[in-house]
Amino acid sequence: MRSTSIAENIAEIRARIGRAAAHCQRDPAGIRLLAASKTQPAAALRLAWDAGVTDFGESYVQEALEKQGLLRDLPLRWHFIGPLQSNKTRAVAENFDWVHSVDRLKIARRLSAQRPAQMPPLALCIQVNISAEPGKSGAAPGEVAALAGHIAALPGLELRGLMAIPRAGDSGPQQRHAFARLRGALSQLQAEHPLLDTLSMGMSADLEAAIEEGSTLVRVGTDLFGPRK
Ligand SMILES: *Cc1c(COP(=O)(O)O)cnc(C)c1O
Repeated sequence: MRSTSIAENIAEIRARIGRAAAHCQRDPAGIRLLAASKTQPAAALRLAWDAGVTDFGESYVQEALEKQGLLRDLPLRWHFIGPLQSNKTRAVAENFDWVHSVDRLKIARRLSAQRPAQMPPLALCIQVNISAEPGKSGAAPGEVAALAGHIAALPGLELRGLMAIPRAGDSGPQQRHAFARLRGALSQLQAEHPLLDTLSMGMSADLEAAIEEGSTLVRVGTDLFGPRK
């Protein structure tokens, strides 16, 4: 791979988003680019901010808190996108704007109780195990409606939509099917919860397919920053 700068990578990703959106007659303004910045140093996030990225996704709480400290001078939006254990919910509730990886009511209840009252509600996506992989994070598709109903009633949280990571190694058409199932699950939920507006799906390798299936937020790491450390 040719060595390119983060700014060039971001320009190329924005061009890909633009082409994919044009291909399916969508407005690219409806697709948010989230920089999946786990393992990347704070200086790399700063370069992404300089190139216009405002949203950053982190997967490890301790690492994220350190970078947040180093980037306090920038008004970044922080998304937690990694597996979330009970003992880390307080740090997420107190230091993030979004969480994409909630798959159990217990975790949502803790985030609700721990979100500081003076902060805006924590925006939340339910992670769905859309390919029904054994042992993988994410609520089973059949559990999502009940979970959404409970979460929507919790104070301090704002349910925004669904997130999924399709099975790695699936072919393009299989991944597309997975994205289409997530879109279908969101439109079912929207009957009960009309304000849901977020489909968090698509990464470096599959953002075009995700956008064609309705993604409103793509989470891009490798193609934006280069390989993870
Ligand atoms: C790391 C990560 C990404 C980014 O993946 P790339 O393939 O490097 O673009 C997206 N989503 C989640 C949940 C991740 O953990």
